Amino acid sequence: MASAKEDRKEGEVVELARRRGFLWPAFEIYGGAAGFYDYGPLGALLKRHIETEWRRFYGIGEGFYEIEATTIAPKDVFEASGHLKSFADLAVVCKSCKSFFRVDDELNINKKCPGCGGELVEAGELNLMFQTRIGVSKGESTERDQNKSEGYLRPETAQGIFINFQRLIRFNRDKLPLGIIQVGKAYRNEISPRKSLIRLREFTMAEAEVFVDPREKNRHPKFETVKDRVMKLVPGEGAEVEKSLEEAVSSGLIANEYLGYHVVKVGEFLERIGIPKDRLQFRQHRKDEMAHYARDCWDIEFLSDRYGWMEIVGVADRGDYDLSVHAAFSKADMSVRTEVEGDAAAEKVVPHVIEPSFGIDRIFYALLESSLYNEQVGKEKRKVLRFKSEIAPIKAAVFPLLNRDVLKGKAKEVVQILRDESVFAEYDGSGSIGRRYRRQDEIGTPYCITIDYETLEDGAVTIRERDTMKQVRVPVADIKGFIAEK
Ligand SMILES: [Zn+2]
Repeated sequence: MASAKEDRKEGEVVELARRRGFLWPAFEIYGGAAGFYDYGPLGALLKRHIETEWRRFYGIGEGFYEIEATTIAPKDVFEASGHLKSFADLAVVCKSCKSFFRVDDELNINKKCPGCGGELVEAGELNLMFQTRIGVSKGESTERDQNKSEGYLRPETAQGIFINFQRLIRFNRDKLPLGIIQVGKAYRNEISPRKSLIRLREFTMAEAEVFVDPREKNRHPKFETVKDRVMKLVPGEGAEVEKSLEEAVSSGLIANEYLGYHVVKVGEFLERIGIPKDRLQFRQHRKDEMAHYARDCWDIEFLSDRYGWMEIVGVADRGDYDLSVHAAFSKADMSVRTEVEGDAAAEKVVPHVIEPSFGIDRIFYALLESSLYNEQVGKEKRKVLRFKSEIAPIKAAVFPLLNRDVLKGKAKEVVQILRDESVFAEYDGSGSIGRRYRRQDEIGTPYCITIDYETLEDGAVTIRERDTMKQVRVPVADIKGFIAEK
């Protein structure tokens, strides 16, 4: 169980996130449970803005269609997908307190129990899926019935796309390539969750499944637009290199154009929402860490001050693994008849899948950490979250300069004007102006608008910019234009 003491160890970012209403440990009044967090009002807004940008990037930018599949699925799905057999972690158990721990780089069989110092012994592989029952049963049931009602919470959103492939390809008039996206919750019953948002038991994924004719994997139609992009690449074997995408693909380091295109696009998206390029690297999976379905896989890692390099996105070439196993188990035909330029005859092929898979909660953490600055302003210190305007939870805060009804009334009027123009604004009248600035800086609000007595006469307000702290006078009617222009 996560305790308050454990949370205090999480450091500045999570502390600020909790204090300001971004993120709270779930079930707090019942003592909490490790691996679960609730998003507070500002966290929910920030997360939604990341997801909106993501949908804009892949949905509009790439022309991918979004679907929404169920989060619970019957056993058959995961039997076919391989998750029942392979979605497991090696664990050790403490002989004295019986706690289980995941075996990873930080904790191995030679160490003592971090809880009580007891001896750790191997506990074998433990499956990470949450099991549930579909439907109710009363009293005895046959083995067959029980088997039918066994279900699991999805460990990734991808399977919901694969099992709908026949309908999706028909929807797309039997044409490849076809990109399908999904944003939603997934679940992994982690053996030892920790590190706030880094290893959760319930989390949000945003995944794209790009179905491509295997004969076309080296002919991405937009490869030209990204081929010169230079990336910091860490190969599965060998030393780190800086290479352009074109070099990485032609030398065989990245398996094909489709995979390479999507690796680059991930970097582009992360930078777009405000994660600095110099804190990102692209790391190829070693053969021994590749998931059971992957042919080549690249993690996009964020350099965290607190956790070191951490995976925030994975881009995998899943080959025809998923469609083939579902075809074999379900007997559904997962092939499509297509023709390739230059080939006269149409051929039946099982498409390959390129999958960029985003951990939204980890990206949320990375964005908080990389946006947080501690600055000295004169004699005072300020903490400021330098979010991009599109991402900031609140776009503008409106203050009455003094606690007078006439100023408060005007300030509330300005809040409503902005809301009517779809600018998410909030009213803040508590504490001194200095305190209000500090609070808005800490939650990353790009603009603070102050109403004073002059406003009542000339209809203008003072806008203070978060990053420069510069103040300008702007007429109420021009506030939206001013913000939009910036
Ligand atoms: Zn122990």
